[in-house]
Amino acid sequence: TFKIGVLGLQGAFREHAKALEATNTEVSIVKRVHELEGLDGLVIPGGESTTMRRLMDKYELFDAIKQFANEKPVFGTCAGLILMAKKIDGQKGPHLALMDINVKRNAFGRQVESFEAELDIKDVADNFVGVFIRAPYITEVGEDVEVLATYDGKIVAARQGHFLTAAFHPELTDDNRFHQYFVEMVKGKVLV
Ligand code: GLN
Repeated sequence: TFKIGVLGLQGAFREHAKALEATNTEVSIVKRVHELEGLDGLVIPGGESTTMRRLMDKYELFDAIKQFANEKPVFGTCAGLILMAKKIDGQKGPHLALMDINVKRNAFGRQVESFEAELDIKDVADNFVGVFIRAPYITEVGEDVEVLATYDGKIVAARQGHFLTAAFHPELTDDNRFHQYFVEMVKGKVLV
C-alpha cells in the first residue's frame, strides 16, 4: 500500500490530508525528520513560505526533504510552490530548488488578496475551481517542465518529472481530482 505525507509545520496541511484521505490514500502528517520514513510521496502545503522555511531549518527537515525528493514525488501548493522553485523573483536564493521554475510571490497584486477562477488543467480536469490566496505564479519554466494550467496568461500549475505544483489551493475545495492525479503519480501510473 501507498502512503503520502503532508508537511505539517504550518499552513493548510489538515485540508490536504483530508483531500488525500478522500481518494482512499493512507496519509500522515510530517513534523519531524523520522516521520518521512516509509512515505511514498510528500505534499508541501500553502501557508507562508518564509515561515515554513524557518521551521524546516529549525527541525532539520530542509536537507531531509531535499534528499526525500531525490527519489520520491513531491506536490507543492502556493507557498509549497515557492519552496520548490529554483528561482524566486526579487529574492537572493531559492529554498528547496526542486523544480526548474521561476516564481513571483504575491503576484496577482496586493489589492487582490484572494479570488476563485475556473481552470483547465491538462490531464487533471477541464473545469477545476482554483482558489488563489495571495498566490504566486510561475514566470518562466525550463524545458523539462510541462505547463498544466494558466490563468490570465500566467502559469499556475506545472509538472516536472515526479514534481507537481500549483499556485492555488486544490485542498480548499471538495474537488479531489488534482490530489487524485498526484496519487496516481505516486503509484507510478501517470508517466511522463
Ligand atoms: N504569499 C505566500 C508566500 O509567499 C503564499 C500564500 C499561500 O500559500 N496561500 O509564502
